[in-house]
Amino acid sequence: MESLAVIENLVGFETVSRDSNLPLIDFVQNFLYDHGVDSRRVPSADGRKSNLIATVGPLEPGGIVLSGHTDVVPVDGQDWSRDPFAFHRRGERWYGRGSCDMKGFIGIALSLVPQMNRLRRPIHFALSYDEEVGCLGAPDMIEVIRQELPEPAGVIVGEPTSMAAVTAHKGIVGLRTTVRGYEAHSSQTHRGVSAVMTAARLVSHLEQVADQLSKETPSDNGFEPHATSVHVGVIHGGTALNIISGECQFTWDIRNIPDDDPQVLIDNFENFCRREVLPGMRARHQGCSIDTEVLARAPAFDDSNSSILGLVQSLSGRSETYKVAYGTEAGQYQGAGFPTVLCGPGSIDQAHQPDEYIEASEVEAGQRFLQALVNELSS
Ligand SMILES: [Zn+2]
Repeated sequence: MESLAVIENLVGFETVSRDSNLPLIDFVQNFLYDHGVDSRRVPSADGRKSNLIATVGPLEPGGIVLSGHTDVVPVDGQDWSRDPFAFHRRGERWYGRGSCDMKGFIGIALSLVPQMNRLRRPIHFALSYDEEVGCLGAPDMIEVIRQELPEPAGVIVGEPTSMAAVTAHKGIVGLRTTVRGYEAHSSQTHRGVSAVMTAARLVSHLEQVADQLSKETPSDNGFEPHATSVHVGVIHGGTALNIISGECQFTWDIRNIPDDDPQVLIDNFENFCRREVLPGMRARHQGCSIDTEVLARAPAFDDSNSSILGLVQSLSGRSETYKVAYGTEAGQYQGAGFPTVLCGPGSIDQAHQPDEYIEASEVEAGQRFLQALVNELSS
């Protein structure tokens, strides 16, 4: 099957992270089976989603893992010109949710399976779920790869990099902080403890922390923005204008450069809450609390001396390397000991956007790159 047809099939499965990806996994398993390739699921605990591993070629060391996530971000509230899950062309662009991030890469790679019949070193497909909600799916699969597959030479994570080699990215920690105050009539501010106003103080503190990091971090480190960032994305609290709010919750993230340990920031924040904020709250009411939980954690990636970087550069014909701010599964692969490079078709600028698209020229560049990989591993 031609790569565009495979991508069209993949885009047609509505694999938003909150939903099951099993229909897509069924399709890929059948596709591989039809080409004589066995595959194996590594399912989520509740069985609603699954990773998929498949080896094409001989079961020997020295192969390359092609890593891609099957989930996509939601289209809710986005203004799409046409059905996001119907892959379609306008001019020189192919549109559809996931066309760029990252079903384009997966579709191109699958479409080359018929050309993989002379491989002397294997290509391993490693398709994950729940990447977009904190790289939750991949760790179990990476563990199976580490323990059960003949040791690969390295991992290419096909996130959209416009086919440039990316050798570092930031880490992510997603957190939720819950402030419990004490309700009272809003005219009696001396009797209540406002959870909303306490949360505002904490959010403002986090902004100061981020500003400080931005000042302290060398600005020429290759990242944009250069420093570890802290961002509050959602806040909910209170019930009425004239009630001092009893509860307020906010979710926030830390995106750390490889040199910064996010746990230090989390510990500092907890200390600030415990020492600077809670005593004043509890002096008014003993039941007040501030609790912070980690929702998701994906490590930073920094593999500028990766032993497969030269291979990726020669296949793509591009020698420059980049560092990026977004997170991927690359840090998890590197953490498991695999030499890793990020390189895939499409621009990250189009990822997650309404009317997400991949340039036809990027599809072609991805085809050339992966065909060159197949040739290399067949020689
Ligand atoms: Zn992605």
